[in-house]
Amino acid sequence: MKKETKCIQSGYQPKNGESRMIPIIQSTTFKYDTSEDMGKLFDLQAEGYFYTRLQNPTNDMVAAKICDLEGGSAAMLTSSGQAATFLAVFNIATAGDHVIASSAIYGGSFNLFNVTMRKMGIDFTFVDPDCSDEELEAAFQPNTKCVFGETIANPSLVVFDIERFAKAAHAHGVPLIIDNTFATPINCRPFEWGADIVTHSTTKYMDGHDVAVGGCIVDSGHFDWMAHADTFPGLTTPDESYHGITYAEQFGQAGAYITKATAQLMRDLGPIQSPQNAFYLNLGLESLAVRMPRHCQNAQTVAEFLEKHPMVAWVNYPGLKSNKYYERAKKYMPDGSCGVISFGVKGGRQAAEEFMKHLKVAMIATHVADAHTCVLHPASSTHRQLSDEELIACGVTPDLIRLSCGIENVDDIIDDLHQALAKIQ
Ligand code: PLP
Repeated sequence: MKKETKCIQSGYQPKNGESRMIPIIQSTTFKYDTSEDMGKLFDLQAEGYFYTRLQNPTNDMVAAKICDLEGGSAAMLTSSGQAATFLAVFNIATAGDHVIASSAIYGGSFNLFNVTMRKMGIDFTFVDPDCSDEELEAAFQPNTKCVFGETIANPSLVVFDIERFAKAAHAHGVPLIIDNTFATPINCRPFEWGADIVTHSTTKYMDGHDVAVGGCIVDSGHFDWMAHADTFPGLTTPDESYHGITYAEQFGQAGAYITKATAQLMRDLGPIQSPQNAFYLNLGLESLAVRMPRHCQNAQTVAEFLEKHPMVAWVNYPGLKSNKYYERAKKYMPDGSCGVISFGVKGGRQAAEEFMKHLKVAMIATHVADAHTCVLHPASSTHRQLSDEELIACGVTPDLIRLSCGIENVDDIIDDLHQALAKIQ
């Protein structure tokens, strides 16, 4: 099936007389005839459901759709994108381990790594995504467990060189994890470039309508855990907390990673997505392949308008020929990147704040990547917990305005920007 068809049909094929739409199984628990039947589920010897904190049929159908769109082998939904990022890394890195992350990532991921996960004893090295081969090589340590990057970084819009980082990670026997939130599998499929695991904040384009916070982790099934058994004992030695199961032996390359994340981490930490939210997410996924090209078209037109405007100091959009990442974006995302643009208004921080006050169509919101056009000044909002040095390391300048182009008529978005820019003039 092509991606447009997968958006509609993957994950759930109703049988004779069953509901056409994915059913919401709004139940915390599931009934069995005998204790033996249930025991087999607990031992992971049979497939089925026993408690929604671990798995729920609605969630699994939606996860299967995202899995198919990404071309993966297994997937799970999480309560948020943050939970997806945390579980994806924590599933293979624990106290005493080390992780390499791109410095150009979402501020929440940066803080999660740099503060919270450090407190858990995991060490992080942040590398410039455009660092030299020598610098990248120097970042690896004997205890490095994975490399993490974002296809298109929020909000710096740095396009990550997935293929290069995948090669480097594999040369050191560790997987590459890619946060593919901004590109979505409609525009980029990181597994085709060597990534091993993909995460999403489904809260963004996948939901697309501002209704449901959620996340997803997809495993490619490509990484051979057993070939690196000493590096990943959590997957390759018995889990005494789960009936002595060795995940990589029992579930193989295709299933080990997601089974461990479900049976161990979801069991103990519990950041499951509600089935109701999974249902909303599925509604968004059904139109994802139609919405993404429109987001990209609108953003391209707006970026070109801004680039010519005398009150605009600079524009950052990978679809502009003047952009540093134009060629890289064309390689990884030939059909378009995303609907998010960043730019600076002449006059710096103050002018930026003034400009935003006059906007009418573009709404001030911490959100990005949905049907509504919205705008944000990160330095005074989402990124305010970061020091100036950390801000610059993340690619965020104090005058940066993030504009997320929705799917409205682009003329209305441009008229709105035009009148707000005229006011600060
Ligand atoms: N990853 C990216 C690229 C994001 O933009 C965000 C949120 O903005 C997240 C992860 C975290 O997702 P959530 O807000 O769903 O927890």
